[in-house]
Amino acid sequence: MTKANFRQEARLALHRGRAELETGDDQRLKYAALELRMAMEALTYDRLQAFKAEIPPKEYETWQPRKVMLMLLEIDPNVDKGCTLSMGREEYGVPTKHMKVVGTEDVLDLASLKKHYDALGAHLHMPTLKQIEQGPPFDPQRLRARCEKIAAVIEKVLSSSVFNITLGSFAELPCQRCGTTIRKRIPVGLKVIKAKCFECGAPYVITDKGAGQTLWKALQEKIHCPTDNCDAKIGVWRDEIKPGTWWTCHECGETYEITLGVKKHKTDSTDSS
Ligand SMILES: [Zn+2]
Ligand SMILES: [Zn+2]
Repeated sequence: MTKANFRQEARLALHRGRAELETGDDQRLKYAALELRMAMEALTYDRLQAFKAEIPPKEYETWQPRKVMLMLLEIDPNVDKGCTLSMGREEYGVPTKHMKVVGTEDVLDLASLKKHYDALGAHLHMPTLKQIEQGPPFDPQRLRARCEKIAAVIEKVLSSSVFNITLGSFAELPCQRCGTTIRKRIPVGLKVIKAKCFECGAPYVITDKGAGQTLWKALQEKIHCPTDNCDAKIGVWRDEIKPGTWWTCHECGETYEITLGVKKHKTDSTDSS
């Protein structure tokens, strides 16, 4: 699959946006706003691409940067924080005192996205009758100032010496139901997380045991085989506990199916008889 160069797209959009601002023409401010919005989108999709292995394919269609960022925050609560990456050689299990800074990353955070993305969007449409009658008149100076501010934020993100640092330990397991490899990040500071197979939807809970060890628990319920004198227990996936699911018991050979049932409701008075 081709990898899109969103950082380059962001750089080009920023460049075009700056050129529009430099004309000094208030009528061209909306084009600057459009380019800066596209730069913000490109930077967000760049983050999305870095987390691709952990995102269900249907989510690739999500395009609103704020929604993308919220989705990424669910995977890693640190995703919208910048960081400094340092490295050093560990000597026989003792962390070194000589850490070398590799680089610093500035990211486009959720707060900046919230603040600026929609505000710019408001200038990309013809004002409605209500806005013209009731809203404040168009203030080109204000929009220009906002555009300059956003351009500076984007510039800073783009000039990070390292980028798309995604830390956390990875857990990997072939799905017990369909065999597809499931990859899941365990963000720093979290011990228990939920995981789901993208292919078949099988649910799991992963527990971080430390030292690179993870415990995967398939979310299954044990159902006792209803056949008399059969002790078999059948594991049924939690997402399959619904009418229509059936199985053949590995011990007695009988086939059972989950159905919707109706039974007589017992009240307390009949219970105590
Ligand atoms: Zn699966
Ligand atoms: Zn059985």
